[in-house]
Amino acid sequence: MLSYRHAFHAGNFADILKHFVLFLVLQYYNQKDKPYFYIDTHSGAGLYCLSNEQSQKTGEYIDGVQRLYQAQSLPPLLSEFKNQILNILPDNNHYAGSPYIAAKTAKMDTKLRLFEQHNNEFILLNQTVKLLNIQKRTITHNNDGFNGLLSLLPPPTRRAIILIDPSYEIKDDYEKVIHTLKKAIKKFATGCFLIWYPILQYEESKRLPEQLKTLAPKWLKAELSVKSFSKDGFGMAGSGMFIINPPYVLNEQLKNTLADLCSLLKQDNSTNYSIEYQND
Ligand code: SAM
Repeated sequence: MLSYRHAFHAGNFADILKHFVLFLVLQYYNQKDKPYFYIDTHSGAGLYCLSNEQSQKTGEYIDGVQRLYQAQSLPPLLSEFKNQILNILPDNNHYAGSPYIAAKTAKMDTKLRLFEQHNNEFILLNQTVKLLNIQKRTITHNNDGFNGLLSLLPPPTRRAIILIDPSYEIKDDYEKVIHTLKKAIKKFATGCFLIWYPILQYEESKRLPEQLKTLAPKWLKAELSVKSFSKDGFGMAGSGMFIINPPYVLNEQLKNTLADLCSLLKQDNSTNYSIEYQND
């Protein structure tokens, strides 16, 4: 039974880090005159209205995308990201999900393969695909994104960006991420895999990035914490993006921007960020 609904969290601090990194990787892939696939194993609805009941209930977007919209001075890459988000959305009362950002940022010949297991979210995702008018180059699947990913690899283009973005509400997700990636890398060693994960006080959450480091020789890990852990031990202090086979420019791009992103999203004095890069 899936109870997680991204509408409660859309546009929060974790979305900003995830979508900023996704935006940078898409831009890099656009530079070559060769087609690529975009695969999203956990797509969500694709588009979120920030004035709806769910967003208003948590108000998480206020400390996320709203701060980005209101920021007066940003480093160039963050400014480009902000402009892209504002340009592609119907208005700034909405926030874009990963499939929406990918569809609007990738080149027009990019094929999208989108998985979403929750039935209601899947209906919304299909509405978003229709709104974007990308039906011809998009296939949506109402089933498990972990298994679905493996069935698509390697893609015919031999170039692909793959976003793996589970909610980790079910603890199995941690194991599934590792298990799926082991198989996925065997089938498609050169794919660019982007894995989002939360920074929590659970063992599984602390272990995940260390496990990810063992899967492939080339990776980048970027973490951004915006606050301290709550006293009861629950709650997400920050999040991370782990990229397998990152574009070579990404390390430098993040080094130039994460300090500013940290200041922008800061909620208390525990704010910090880190970047680790291995390119063996
Ligand atoms: N990637 C989206 C974005 O950045 O806008 C947000 C995705 S949200 C964190 C996770 C989504 O995965 C939820 O909509 C949930 O219903 C869906 N989901 C959960 N388990 C899944 C699975 N095994 N396969 C596909 N989708 C799943």
